[in-house]
Amino acid sequence: GFSCGGLIAVILTGIGSWWLTRQSLKPVEQSFQQLKQFTADASHELRSPLTVVKTSVEVMMNHPERIHPNDEKKLKAIASATNQMTRLVEDLLLLARTDTTQTLTFKWVSIPLDELLEDLIDLLQPQADVKGIILKSEIPEEVFVKGNPVELKRLFSNLLENALQYTPTGGTVSVGVVRRDRFVFVSVNDTGIGIASEDIPLVFNRFWRADKARSHREGGLGLGLAIAAAIAHTHSGEITVKSQVGVGSSFQVRLLAVLKTY
Ligand code: ADP
Repeated sequence: GFSCGGLIAVILTGIGSWWLTRQSLKPVEQSFQQLKQFTADASHELRSPLTVVKTSVEVMMNHPERIHPNDEKKLKAIASATNQMTRLVEDLLLLARTDTTQTLTFKWVSIPLDELLEDLIDLLQPQADVKGIILKSEIPEEVFVKGNPVELKRLFSNLLENALQYTPTGGTVSVGVVRRDRFVFVSVNDTGIGIASEDIPLVFNRFWRADKARSHREGGLGLGLAIAAAIAHTHSGEITVKSQVGVGSSFQVRLLAVLKTY
């Protein structure tokens, strides 16, 4: 049989170890929180000097007659480096925000997915045309998700820009939307270079890129998928990826469907 004293001892041990775990977790949690706060503060502090540099350079470049010809190249280099840093700071700021706060869900709205995705596709169509890539979509109407439209646009534009970036001329990029139960699945598919199976678990890591030697395209620092995943998580969603080298990649985003909107 099971004695009463034994039972109490088990319960007390349970409570004790729960309390100890809580106590020992605290400092770790605290420093994690502090680190995130630091990232947020640092990003804010970096933004203002960058804006000053950017505007000063722009003012000078608008008056080329006042610049010594030898300095024009340097100014262009400063302008492009400033743009790159501004984008990096914006990205880090966004990541810090998704880390610290569980986004302001009260600001969420019902978003018609077809409109959001068609807008993005229209925006990226010229880029696809220039590269000779077919960009197509099959998006049913009346599919709504709840969330922050700016962030969700960012999520899908990161996936679509990657698909265009890593697909050679003559390829196809397609977007599909499927509604299943209380979920909406958006897939961004390409017939591009693909991702090696050992790299698939790494693609969502911050600053991870398959080809580190390749020079950074504008904004390409290996944060795009980390940001996309962070946004999906703040929307109670998830991104999964299937890929085969030389065949193509398919990124699938799972979001919560809005069951009905009036
Ligand atoms: P980047 O700025 O380098 O595109 P991302 O975080 O968006 O950063 O992507 C990380 C890496 O994952 C890329 O550098 C690339 O190696 C790989 N990758 C992402 N999307 C694709 C894709 N559609 N096809 C092939 N490789 C991809």
